Amino acid sequence: MILDKEQLRKNLDEVIWNIEAARISVSEHHIVKLVTVAKYTEVENIATLYELGQRAFGENQVQQLRDRMRELEVLPLEWHMIGRLQKNKINNLIDLSPALMHSLDSIELAEELNKKLSAKGRTMSCLLQINAAQEESKAGVAPDAAQENYLEIQERFENIRLKGVMTIGAHTDDTKIIQESFETTHRIFENLEREGATICSMGMSGDYELAIKCGSNLVRIGSALFKES
Ligand SMILES: *Cc1c(COP(=O)(O)O)cnc(C)c1O
Repeated sequence: MILDKEQLRKNLDEVIWNIEAARISVSEHHIVKLVTVAKYTEVENIATLYELGQRAFGENQVQQLRDRMRELEVLPLEWHMIGRLQKNKINNLIDLSPALMHSLDSIELAEELNKKLSAKGRTMSCLLQINAAQEESKAGVAPDAAQENYLEIQERFENIRLKGVMTIGAHTDDTKIIQESFETTHRIFENLEREGATICSMGMSGDYELAIKCGSNLVRIGSALFKES
């Protein structure tokens, strides 16, 4: 559905206001980046959000990312890959040069990605995805292995530039369990700051304020920005 500019302005204002309140409750120095997740919305809404000042957008499929980058290539947007990366799409993603790839979810994927980056003489900034609540349905490395995996990727794969970690909050209505999944990820992030990690990507429409209070400095928000009310 194509939303009018006033609706999008209202949604964006509300989200930004909520981000502000949450981040200031942590510290006035705690800066949070907003990445708009456009996967369920029309390309027209992305262009309108650009007019309203939004610059960073995320997609969860390589094909859709490519289509949208093409359609909107006149706009100076920053594109993020946030979804599961299939091995047969790696070369396509490399050719798109996303600003950040959030979903590096295993050593095997890192190895494959590095091989292809190296063959093309390219690098990619990535986040290590952590399956903080250890859910079957989710990708990502186990929290226990995360730090070791991060260091291994940093050491072995020269064409991958690790910038931090990403998690998707636990899939439950129990706020305490969601909070635990964010706290687990943030603890890992803090340990990795010594290794140069700067990005802790966590929080979506339903849980971004909680994520920020747990230390997130990048939220990925879709449906809250594209609702009709
Ligand atoms: C879809 C998606 C989001 C945004 O979800 P909303 O609930 O619509 O805000 C964030 N992160 C990832 C990885 C996603 O796939």
